[in-house]
Amino acid sequence: MKNFLIYILGFIILFFIFPALCTITPKQATAQPIISKEENSTVEQENNQNVETVQNESEVEQKYPYQKYETIRLFHADTSQIEELNIDEYLYGVVSSEMPANFELEALKAQAVVARTYTIYQCINNVGKHENADICDDSTCCQAWITKEDRMARWDANEAENNWNKIVEAVDSTSGKIITYNGAPINAFFHSNSGGVTESSLNIWGGIDYPYLKSVETAGEDGYTQYASEATFTKEELLNKIKETYPDCVMDYSQENCIQILEYTTSGRVKTIKFGNKEIAGTEARTLMGLRSTNFSFSIDGDNIIFSVTGYGHGVGMSQTGADSLAKSGSNYEEIIKHFYTGVEITEVNSL
Ligand SMILES: [Zn+2]
Repeated sequence: MKNFLIYILGFIILFFIFPALCTITPKQATAQPIISKEENSTVEQENNQNVETVQNESEVEQKYPYQKYETIRLFHADTSQIEELNIDEYLYGVVSSEMPANFELEALKAQAVVARTYTIYQCINNVGKHENADICDDSTCCQAWITKEDRMARWDANEAENNWNKIVEAVDSTSGKIITYNGAPINAFFHSNSGGVTESSLNIWGGIDYPYLKSVETAGEDGYTQYASEATFTKEELLNKIKETYPDCVMDYSQENCIQILEYTTSGRVKTIKFGNKEIAGTEARTLMGLRSTNFSFSIDGDNIIFSVTGYGHGVGMSQTGADSLAKSGSNYEEIIKHFYTGVEITEVNSL
């Protein structure tokens, strides 16, 4: 009988308790790696405070669930490296690079939606522009972008944290929102200061006459430093500037109308200007002389030619200082966007 009990006990240990002990460790080991950092922190708190856990889980759920365009492949122009980033984290670096953090929150939110729209437009319409990447960080090609570390280092230390949090709020509170026209993302151009009136894309670049990039007026832009500027050249310097592109240019300054604005756009920008024997577009004149916009006049004072320039940038789409001015007057980001882009809607990106 005693032997029989020992056999039974041995049987139980061999077939039930020992296998059970063997399986505990592998189960725990395989469970951990599939928990992400965010989920892991929630799990840890679950053991301590159930109330906390419920709140954190709902916060995680509230993050916008991008069905597409969740990850952006960013080409770094200086290193030729490609980095994959969550779209909203990418946008923190764009908004903080493109617009001053001391602008109104509603203006920053408008900039976030504009930048998100521009990004997704690039993903859809400019496939192959950058090999194996969606967009680059060169502002003259796509959109400016800066790392959090570099951005924080350039702000005053006592303002950096608040500035960054403001940028994050602008992006997160508009997460998933883009600008559409007829159900498709718009080509969301923007610039620094319109000088009080924006320009249609057709007058600046020709080509497609985007129905949502029309000329609109905005009050309050004259209150910003970007509104007015001057550029002065001696007669010889100006001729040399023109000759860099047109070596056969001849300017006889003794002739009346040696320099003459021949045509203006409907918004009052220079469309065509004559330098001696050369007629060139206002956009080209802006580039040649490094002017801040094509909204300029000139005067001749002795040996100097002075260009007085209004506004900063190409003038198409949203004016950033105009957005800030509208926000100061009480407009929200949707109203700001609909002011600058004619006939558009604010849409959830998931509805594309
Ligand atoms: Zn690019």
